[in-house]
Amino acid sequence: MKIRLFLALLLILAVTPCRAVPADWTTPVAPFQISDNLYYVGSRDLAAYLIVTPKGNILINSNLESSPPQIRSSVEKLGFRWTDTKILLSSQAHYDHAAGAAEVHQETHAQYMVMDGDVDVIKTGGATDFDPTLPHFPQARVDRTLHDNDTVTLGGTTITAHKTAGHTQGCTTWAMQTHEGGRTLNVVIVGGWALNPGVPLVPSRGKPAAYPGIATDFDHAFATLKALPCDIFLGAHGGYFNMLSKLDRLPKEGPAVWIDPDGYRKSVAEHETIYRKEFALQQSRN
Ligand SMILES: [Zn+2]
Repeated sequence: MKIRLFLALLLILAVTPCRAVPADWTTPVAPFQISDNLYYVGSRDLAAYLIVTPKGNILINSNLESSPPQIRSSVEKLGFRWTDTKILLSSQAHYDHAAGAAEVHQETHAQYMVMDGDVDVIKTGGATDFDPTLPHFPQARVDRTLHDNDTVTLGGTTITAHKTAGHTQGCTTWAMQTHEGGRTLNVVIVGGWALNPGVPLVPSRGKPAAYPGIATDFDHAFATLKALPCDIFLGAHGGYFNMLSKLDRLPKEGPAVWIDPDGYRKSVAEHETIYRKEFALQQSRN
């Protein structure tokens, strides 16, 4: 009997995705205006963005399954209504960026728009992800499938969906423009640029690549990121663009801290170097 109980427990542990999340993923940060109609409503590291328009608002990222109350409270602290969220977008179909989507949809009825390669993963709650090691999350419906360079428009604001796949099959870098003091600023919200540990980029020892075309996707992602004009550098994780250190500088330097074209170019180059090294290493093992 005891052995059976033990085996049952083992089985539960094996099928329950049990992953401790970093404290910065769940620790709130006071929401703030980044530029013009673009606001930050995420936690210390899991980024969520609110784009406010006269026709309602666009939310980028629903984050962890537990995140929607944090995001909602940030939206309301800024003085906006949660139910004015008309469109939900995501950076990538991983549990730390898209697991709250079902709840956001239920509470706001926002239209969920997802890049083609990520649609199945969102609909199956992560079950069809090419990386089987990642935790699953509540399944969500998708109202519109996006393709590379599609645009999303609401109340006079247009955002462009750049497919920068590889990290996930539909990883999306969002680009838009804001207007500040007579100046037009190009905003880039990087979707993801790293290979998860253990993910095969090339077929090796009888095992296929994580998915056909993953290396071509990464090539396209880096070419896209390098070509995008960027003044305001943002991303799916605060860590992508050193958000916490920029926040420390904000009281003294003002919103100009978010303008970081050099930091953007440097970070893209660094991640491309890391990726190219990993690709060469994996190829050399064949
Ligand atoms: Zn991810």
